[in-house]
Amino acid sequence: MRKKIVAGNWKMNKTAEEAQTLLSEVIALINDEVTGQVEVVLCPPALYLPIAVQSTLAYERISIGAQNCHEKASGAYTGEISAPMLRSIGVQYVILGHSERRQYFEETNAQLAEKVNIALENGVKPIFCCGESRDLRENGDYIAFVKNQITESLFHLSAESFANVVIAYEPIWAIGTGLTASSAQAQDMHFEIRQHIASQFGVEVAQDTTILYGGSANEKNAAELFAQPDVDGGLIGGASLKAKEFTIVVQANQ
Ligand code: PGA
Repeated sequence: MRKKIVAGNWKMNKTAEEAQTLLSEVIALINDEVTGQVEVVLCPPALYLPIAVQSTLAYERISIGAQNCHEKASGAYTGEISAPMLRSIGVQYVILGHSERRQYFEETNAQLAEKVNIALENGVKPIFCCGESRDLRENGDYIAFVKNQITESLFHLSAESFANVVIAYEPIWAIGTGLTASSAQAQDMHFEIRQHIASQFGVEVAQDTTILYGGSANEKNAAELFAQPDVDGGLIGGASLKAKEFTIVVQANQ
């Protein structure tokens, strides 16, 4: 049985005090009844990772993830944070290849392959994001585009390593726009992604791969999205910034 996950991507939001408040509120609301078998992954800005790790140590169902890491282990890369550093403070996941990083920081599939490698080498599990633009969705072969993102960044891995990767399908046209993919659109793409993974790593690995949906998922639409057979949870942006809403999303994945 593959793992169900709901991850909260806080992006570049919250001051220290606000982050601490949100963290405390989420911890207070998350209990076994809310999560069932769902793993909750909180991804605050890097500054707050140590406090997030410390505050959630006692909560088995809550893990902490970073929003990015550098592709090198250490060195003269001013301002950057490496996978060994994340590991050293107890961070378990790292979001890689988010469309905002691809767009604003020009991250490429090849560079992301390196980031995936360094994360895995250091025991940090990548939440690998893929997804097409609105233009591609309307005019192009968006399925081939998404498959190619996965091929170029992940298909060099062994099946054993790949087993530690979580996929997040996030159509760019749905991120932060309020324009959620319909549950049918999400299911169709998740099915394609799983088939693609099977073609490289085999059916068993594909069946065990957690594939999250992201893009304006919230407390209102989460249940329908998560009810789709190939949707194993969500990567939640805006709705992860409010403890109550986020908790309802988590509960919707049971
Ligand atoms: P959103 O963001 O839920 O605010 O659309 C999702 C994401 O970018 O991870």
